[in-house]
Amino acid sequence: MNIDSINNGFVIDHIEAGRGMKLYELLGLDKLDCSVAIIKNVHSNKMGKKDIIKIDADIPVNLDVIGYVDPSATVNIIKDGALVEKKSISMPEYLKNVIKCRNPRCITAVEQELDQVFKLTDREKKIYRCIYCESEA
Ligand code: ZN
Repeated sequence: MNIDSINNGFVIDHIEAGRGMKLYELLGLDKLDCSVAIIKNVHSNKMGKKDIIKIDADIPVNLDVIGYVDPSATVNIIKDGALVEKKSISMPEYLKNVIKCRNPRCITAVEQELDQVFKLTDREKKIYRCIYCESEA
């Protein structure tokens, strides 16, 4: 894959260095059969170092996941080899079925069919809490 020539897909840019892998996992990119590239520790004038993820496929990307992992990331949408849209990302108020509550006594540990829902309770400190047991994510 020539990482510079995506025809139809996404470039997730300005990811804080070191967070690219986490984003890769939470977005489920390992399950795709299209070309996906993670470029780590790219030099950035603005950030020092950053990670970049390139996805060479026109698939739905969950922007909430990106907002949770790194709200300062940007998403560039590429169509026919040209940049058609730049999306800025914000932290979602709620996060549904992205992460799991780690409290073994949480109701979601027993009732597995329940949605895993976390609510943003502190935007400054980026704290999400389980809506059922209030455990911190
Ligand atoms: Zn919980």
